[in-house]
Amino acid sequence: MSYTLNEKVRNLTPYEPIAGSYRIRLDANESFLELTPKMKEKMAARIGALHLNRYPDPAASAVCVKAGGYFHVRPECITVGNGSDELLTLITQTLMGKGEKLVYTTPDFSMYRLYGYLAENECIGFTKDDSFRIDVDALIALIRKEGARTVIFSNPCNPTGVGLPREEVLRLVEGVPDCLVVVDEAYMDFWDQSVLDCVEKYDNLMVLKTCSKAFSMAGIRCGLAFANPVLTNALRAVKSPYNVNAMTQAVAELMFESPHELNQAIRCIIESRDWLYAAVRALAERFPEKLRVLPTAANFVYLQLPEGEAARIFEGMKENGVVIRRMGDCLRITCGTREENAEVVRLLEEWIA
Ligand SMILES: *Cc1c(COP(=O)(O)O)cnc(C)c1O
Repeated sequence: MSYTLNEKVRNLTPYEPIAGSYRIRLDANESFLELTPKMKEKMAARIGALHLNRYPDPAASAVCVKAGGYFHVRPECITVGNGSDELLTLITQTLMGKGEKLVYTTPDFSMYRLYGYLAENECIGFTKDDSFRIDVDALIALIRKEGARTVIFSNPCNPTGVGLPREEVLRLVEGVPDCLVVVDEAYMDFWDQSVLDCVEKYDNLMVLKTCSKAFSMAGIRCGLAFANPVLTNALRAVKSPYNVNAMTQAVAELMFESPHELNQAIRCIIESRDWLYAAVRALAERFPEKLRVLPTAANFVYLQLPEGEAARIFEGMKENGVVIRRMGDCLRITCGTREENAEVVRLLEEWIA
């Protein structure tokens, strides 16, 4: 007799971002802006003042208050997680039961399906149209037909950068009153169609945000779930009590005390995104049969290429010390510094021309 893994996990492999060190990394949608030395100094002071022999605040109350101030949401409507990935796990594992139906859209963030699968939800994919838009009427029809308990999608979408206008999101929320609508707004800081202000108005809406993208803090692992107090109390009750460590809480708190810095960083990232998009768009206009690019509401651009080309370009860039993200015949490039953007566009042109 020997121990064997259960079937569910036997063939899974750990998530592996591209390993190795590269000159330019534009593959993970992180912010290219490092925190300022002043900010880092303040952080060090805050962390130095912590009593790390003690457990952290299970409710992360101070983070809820400060984040609530920044986003104009009451602290009672906020749950803090160890990255929004933890919150996604909680939603699929605990707000959903085994065999209950989870609708995800495709293409979209691949983790929704993985977490749903691990939670033994019945995962149902809803395919977007040719321009990667969500047909809300068709999605409502599917959710009703299947009796789905939860629907989840990112807005703007990772990896396409396409956004669903706010009125459409709310039409969905109102169209499926017995289904929880989880809107992952990881990139909404770069767009203006958030439904964050509506979380108290509906009993079936949850909005996720993360400190990993616009706020330059992928390393601290802090995500936020916004929902009415009933949903929030449920999430707080099912999470492990000390899910967010004291250092992360201290740093996140400090971050939300600095709205001026955050907003300035966001403007800077949007400027970079606009430059990158315009440059790639110009290339696509010169070589229309070799490259298509979608307008983007996020901090990256999404390119469609003829069969086999994405792999070739991806490998070519890697050999030149530049990593981007490939999904089949598509490429996703995170916006970077001026120099990084110029370099990635130069390489792209070289490979396409
Ligand atoms: C990056 C990303 C996340 C992950 O956020 P963490 O807070 O770093 O776990 C969640 N959703 C989407 C759509 C993302 O792109």
